[in-house]
Amino acid sequence: MADYRAVSHWMATVDDDLTPLPALGSDIDVDVAIVGAGYTGMWTAYYLASADPGLRIAVVEQEIAGFGASGRNGGWCSALFPRSIGSLAAAHGRDAAVALHRAMQATVDEVGRVSAAEGIDCDYRKGGTVVLARSAVQLERAREAYAESEEFDLGLQLLGADEAGARLNATNVLGGTYTPDCARIHPAKLARGLSAAIRRRGVALYEQTPVLDLLPGALLTAHGRVKAPIVVRATEGYTARLPRMRRTVAPVYSLMVATEPQPADFWDEVGLAQRETFSDYRHLIIYGQRTADDRLAFGGRGAPYHFGSKIKPAFDRDARVFAELRRVLAELFPRLGDVPVTASWGGPLGIPRDWSASVGIDRSTGFAWGGGYVGDGVATTNLAGRTLADLILERDTDLTRLPWVNHRSPRWEPEPLRWLGVNAGLWAMSGADPVETRTGRPSRRAALFNRLLGH
Ligand SMILES: Cc1cc2nc3c(=O)[nH]c(=O)nc-3n(C[C@H](O)[C@H](O)[C@H](O)COP(=O)(O)OP(=O)(O)OC[C@H]3O[C@@H](n4cnc5c(N)ncnc54)[C@H](O)[C@@H]3O)c2cc1C
Repeated sequence: MADYRAVSHWMATVDDDLTPLPALGSDIDVDVAIVGAGYTGMWTAYYLASADPGLRIAVVEQEIAGFGASGRNGGWCSALFPRSIGSLAAAHGRDAAVALHRAMQATVDEVGRVSAAEGIDCDYRKGGTVVLARSAVQLERAREAYAESEEFDLGLQLLGADEAGARLNATNVLGGTYTPDCARIHPAKLARGLSAAIRRRGVALYEQTPVLDLLPGALLTAHGRVKAPIVVRATEGYTARLPRMRRTVAPVYSLMVATEPQPADFWDEVGLAQRETFSDYRHLIIYGQRTADDRLAFGGRGAPYHFGSKIKPAFDRDARVFAELRRVLAELFPRLGDVPVTASWGGPLGIPRDWSASVGIDRSTGFAWGGGYVGDGVATTNLAGRTLADLILERDTDLTRLPWVNHRSPRWEPEPLRWLGVNAGLWAMSGADPVETRTGRPSRRAALFNRLLGH
């Protein structure tokens, strides 16, 4: 049996033994068949089963619940949506963009509400997010983020050096921003808790059952067929492995490390007293949290995209990226310079061509989907699950009118263009920060790349 504890620090620290549930044993008939037991698939099952307990729902998972990004992520349950509000407003109008943002803000609370109601102890703590500005150009970006927030009334606070440093005392803090709209969670405790919650509600979960193809009205698996008028794809980064879907999302890896628990005097000095999640205004995304047992869990992008959208366990670990994460940690917090890292891991997230997450249903085929969250799926998957439940039950609600519903992202280019494009973007972002540090001026190639992406 695979060692699922090796998947991430989070999967290693849940208190169930991760024994897989039985695989599908024969052909079955259900009302809704869902591929993927990550947050998207399980939230969808959860809200469907809650709304209509008579519905026959099957979730089919190739490994075990939480095996994908849902059991590996940074644990920011945030109101971030993977497309800026400005670009959403340009595409769909201001009201629609603001409605989506408000729905995301409410989703952060909804995850906390359901976790409490279902007895899922996932270390949920809504302490907000602090994003530091650690150079003059980063300070400028903090001001731009604040200006955008003011324009759309999003509630971001602009912090001076003292206020930012009081929340997170890293090196070179010149200022930053703070939003209350984020909860720190233990990702795998949420995923495993959801798996138990849906099964309590009568959902059938089949593990170690790879789905080979999604057909109108059926899933074809390695162990039999699941017939269902509604089929939901909830496979995020792994989508690229499915027939005809190779160009739907680009699987891009995010990697993380966790330190051993830090003593009280470290936290007295560093802060994160409210368990704020944190980042800074560099281009190449970094993200961190103070865990419930007082570790620093810290991650970032920078791993390459692999030709042909390949996904392999070997890609979860990249010595160069781990070393860079260690370097950045020590730069932010010199006291961590020689502190052992006790775990390092990573996983694929899903990037659609236009960076726009979407949920939807094609009523002519019964085919529904949710995904393309880039690195902002922890809360967004909950909104996806509630929205998919409404769509499947043919309810016209505020959620089904949000602008990401039935949005169709264009497909990625065929290879080798996809490999060139995605890696050029990663290269632009990772090269931009050292250039800014050296010159003290905003990186032109990062600005150009952002313009090309339209966000
Ligand atoms: C290292 C890392 C850090 C991140 N940090 C954050 C963060 O802090 N905040 C945030 O908001 N987002 C973060 N994300 C993104 C977030 O984790 C994801 O967007 C979210 O978990 C997606 O959930 P999902 O259910 O759609 O996909 P997944 O969790 O990837 O689940 C998909 C499931 O489908 C299964 N599957 C795939 N193909 C098949 C098949 N053919 N047959 C059967 N089963 C299949 C997989 O095994 C998997 O279990 C991070 C991602 C990573 C990798």
